This record gives sequence, C-alpha cells and structure tokens, in this order.
Amino acid sequence: MSENLSSQLGKYLPPPVLALVKIGGKDASELGQQLYLVGGVVRDLFLGRANFDFDLVVEGDAISLARRFANDSQAKLTVHSRFGTAKLDYPGFSLDLATARSETYSQPGALPTVNPGSIKDDLIRRDFSINAMALHLNPQRFSELIDLYHGKDDLERRLIRILHPKSFIDDATRILRAIRYEQRLGFKLDAETEKLLRRDVAMLDTISGDRIRHELELILKEDEPERTLRRAEELGVLSRLHPSLKGNGRLSKIFAKARQSDIHGSILSIYLCLLVYNLNDKAIAEFISRLNFPKNSAQAMRHALQLKRHIHSLANPKLKHSDIYQLLHSYSTPAVQANALASQSPIASQHLNLYLRKLRYVKPLLNGEDLKRMGIHAGPKIGEILNALQKAKLNGKARTRKDEEKLVNHLR
Ligand code: ATP
Ligand code: MG
Repeated sequence: MSENLSSQLGKYLPPPVLALVKIGGKDASELGQQLYLVGGVVRDLFLGRANFDFDLVVEGDAISLARRFANDSQAKLTVHSRFGTAKLDYPGFSLDLATARSETYSQPGALPTVNPGSIKDDLIRRDFSINAMALHLNPQRFSELIDLYHGKDDLERRLIRILHPKSFIDDATRILRAIRYEQRLGFKLDAETEKLLRRDVAMLDTISGDRIRHELELILKEDEPERTLRRAEELGVLSRLHPSLKGNGRLSKIFAKARQSDIHGSILSIYLCLLVYNLNDKAIAEFISRLNFPKNSAQAMRHALQLKRHIHSLANPKLKHSDIYQLLHSYSTPAVQANALASQSPIASQHLNLYLRKLRYVKPLLNGEDLKRMGIHAGPKIGEILNALQKAKLNGKARTRKDEEKLVNHLR
C-alpha cells in the first residue's frame, strides 16, 4: 500500500511540490513533530484530479516548523500566530500549514472552540470521509495513509458520507458542501447521510448569512452549478435558503447558455441574477437580507428584476440605437446579461445583446475639454452637447471628428 501511494504521490504531485513536502517531512522529524498532507488534496490524489490547495497539518507546532521549513526551502513565509497557521509561498503555488486541532461545538451553527490536538482529532472534525484522509510526510513513514473513517473505500464506492450522526447539526454548511461534492464528483450521498441531511435541513437556519453566501458562491464556482442547485431543490435545501428559489430545468438550460456565450465580467453575478429571476420584489429583498449580499450583487439582482419588468419596451423592432442605450444604461451589466439570456422575446434579446456587444461602449470622440476649447462655456450646456453627440454617434449620424464638430456648431 505504502509503495503504491508513494508512486501516487510522485505521479500526481507536481515534482517541485513533492520535493518540498519531503523537505518539510525531514524538518518535522528533526523537531520531533509529525507532518501530514490532508483533506481535499489527498482525495484528489486518489481520484487523479488536479488540486493546487496543498494543506499540511502538523502534530506539534505549525509555526516553529514553518519557520525552519521556509528557511530550508527559500519560501516567503506568512505567519498567523493567533490561528497557529502559516503559509509558505513559492513561485506559482503555496503550502498551507496548520497545527492539528480538536474542535467542540458549543451550539449548532456557532463556530467551534478550537484546541491543539492529534491528527486523529484533526480528522474527526472534518466534513466527509473522503475529505478526512491524511498522508504522512515524515521520512520514516513517508506516504503512509491515515484513513480512520474509510475514506478510501468511500472513494471507491463513490459515496459522500459524514463522520457521525450529529455532523449536520454541528455545522449545517456541510449540507451544502455534501451536495456540491456529490454533484462535482458524480458520487451519491450515502443512504444514512442522505437521511440525516433530510432530517437536519432546518439546521441551515442556524448558519449566518455570510457563511451561507460563501457556500452558495462555492457552488456557483463549480463547472456546472445547476446540477448542485437542482439536487439542492430536490432535497429541500434550496427552499430552506428562500421558499421561492427553484433549481428547475429552464434555469439549468440558461446557466449552460450563460457559459457558452462570451461573457465579459463575472459569470457569478449573472448566475445570481438568473437564480432570482422568477422571484418577486419581496422575495428578492428577503433573500438579499438572509444571505447578507454586498451592495453590488444586491443591486444586480434587483436590477435584473426591474429590467425584466420593462422588457416589453425592448421588444419593439422600431427602436433606434439611442433608444436602446437610453433604456439600458442605468442597469448594472450582469442584470442586462441575465435578461439577454432569459428573455423570451427574440427582439428584446437581440437589442440587449446589441447593447452589450456594442452600444454600451459608444462614446463621442470629442470630450468636455474639446468643447471648452471650441468656446463652449463650462456648465450644463457641455453635458447636453455631449449627450447629443453620443446619441448622434449611436444612430450613425456622426462618424468622424469633423461630423461631431459640425454638430457642436449647430447646437451651440
Ligand atoms: P475543494 O476542492 O472544494 O477546495 P477541499 O476539500 O480542499 O475541496 P476546502 O473547503 O478547501 O475543501 O477545505 C479543506 C478541508 O477542510 C476539507 O477537505 C475538509 O476536510 C475540511 N473542511 C472544510 N470545511 C469544513 C466544514 N464545514 N466542516 C468540516 N470540515 C471542513
Ligand atoms: Mg480546497
């Protein structure tokens, strides 16, 4: 087994990382400490999936080891003494070191009380068996697998399994994490885990808005977030975040369409707008407040709904380019993008896409300074003329600088 894993490590860890963890293991031995590679990277090593989150756990003191390790491997070192963690930065990647910890939960949903502990303590506090494996890095035991909860078997059986029946009660963010891994990896929830998840769905109410939002963002960063959303709906998880949320078929088609269209900017904000596309004002306000969304995303979601309501005015084939600009320029971009994807009117979609691809970038060649130089006095007149220039340019009535100057002279 050990030899097998050693070659696995050699095969899937990039060579510089392999060389480094060996240095770390040697340093740990010299300090009488034990060093392990843990969590997601071990899981992905067995699955042959790339993972550049190198999490290391130290039985002992991560900070003293990190100092020596950084020194022996020419790393840039950042220490967080309060958390007993350290980061070693190398060109292109980094290693995270943490002191092994034991955790207790004083009440559901609260952050746990943390104390230094053994690797065993550190693994039992983790979310799922497949995330609770460790590989020893000290030279005498290099690549030995610590797998107290049969994570390796669960990887082979393709199961997501919690470590104890109170797991979702201790930390209900695991409900969202379970579904995310299940869908990412094409696994199934273990039957008992699914039963407990369904039983404990209401525990999501004990989690702060910020933590729920963070998990939702992690879902939206997956390759195909709509899979997780659909499953979350099926399990009654989505409606726990807000009763009006749906992860249904039309939504999933639009998510896929969003990825295929060439989007400038954040696809995350577009997904959010699509997620709330069928909600009403009250529901959106509640959802924004529950997840404590920052201003930008909150505004994008509200705008998506406002624009949806005015979409009929964009379905008029006679609109001039300047009319389209006028109708759209005050909405945040993701709201316009979401409507371009979701609108059922082909003409409206065409106009929305024209705005996104072209019209929103149209600016006159002359600016305020040019107008002053032409003898226009500073004041509201400048703004009026600039608007008129932009309108003319949008409608193809002013192509060159000369055209614009002519128009200025006509308007002054
Ligand atoms: P990903 O590929 O999504 O980054 P990961 O396994 O690296 O997966 P992280 O969110 O980076 O996940 O967390 C690192 C490790 O910390 C996990 O593998 C898991 O062992 C543990 N962990 C993270 N969140 C929780 C939680 N809510 N409860 C228990 N353990 C957790
Ligand atoms: Mg990770």
